[in-house]
Amino acid sequence: MLVLPAAIGCTTNAVTGRSQLSLFPESSLQAQAVTEYRSFLSSNKVVTGTSNKDAEMVRRVGSRIAKAITDYYTAQGNAGELNGYQWEFNLVDNKEVNAWCMPGGKVVVYTGLLNITQNEAALAVVLGHEITHAVAHHGNERMSQGALAQGLEVAGNIFTSNNPKANALFTNIFAPTAQVAVLLPNSRKQEYEADHFGLNFAAMAGYNPREAIPFWQRMSAAAGTGKPPEFLATHPSDDNRIAKLQSYMDEALSYYKPVGSPK
Ligand SMILES: [Zn+2]
Repeated sequence: MLVLPAAIGCTTNAVTGRSQLSLFPESSLQAQAVTEYRSFLSSNKVVTGTSNKDAEMVRRVGSRIAKAITDYYTAQGNAGELNGYQWEFNLVDNKEVNAWCMPGGKVVVYTGLLNITQNEAALAVVLGHEITHAVAHHGNERMSQGALAQGLEVAGNIFTSNNPKANALFTNIFAPTAQVAVLLPNSRKQEYEADHFGLNFAAMAGYNPREAIPFWQRMSAAAGTGKPPEFLATHPSDDNRIAKLQSYMDEALSYYKPVGSPK
């Protein structure tokens, strides 16, 4: 039987104000994310060295967005939402078009993505989106729905070697190694939230949110090529997405101060 105390079953999202199913302690997701992140980095080619311009750009953009989110949450009195966050931004040498952020702020960008972002502001749009999924606890929500569907008991640390179901649930949702056949996509609602607030965070970090439109048009064009980008499997790029992004633009622009301009 699933233990579902009403008091902790749902939480109100600090960014969106939406009530979400949230059965997993954030700390246990973060601990599992660290394990998965280390394992991913050790089995992939991390682009290292302070002289590598792309790796440096990934760290710079990521750090600025992390700072923008931290400042925003702090100003709203929600700094506690980021408890346990220890941000890391790594670029891996991989042709796939992909990027992700796991709970606790563990971020990876694939070099293949940079062919489509093509500029720093577009990278900020993608990182704003992925980081929003993490800080808005979208993974927790999907895992909680998965646990309910499977009748999985959520109590204490369930990510142990004798709980393959729980581990499979984690990798089906976060799976950085994509060893699973099908990653469970975010819901449409979560995608719009990540687009909406990700755009705001990119703007707060000093990046022009307007770059989101040509970026998604480039993604859309890449979808027509022989091998569609991995990222598109979970992020369909269509007219709906672009129209929604246009509708968020004025709000995002109200936060936008170009990097280097007076505060
Ligand atoms: Zn997404």
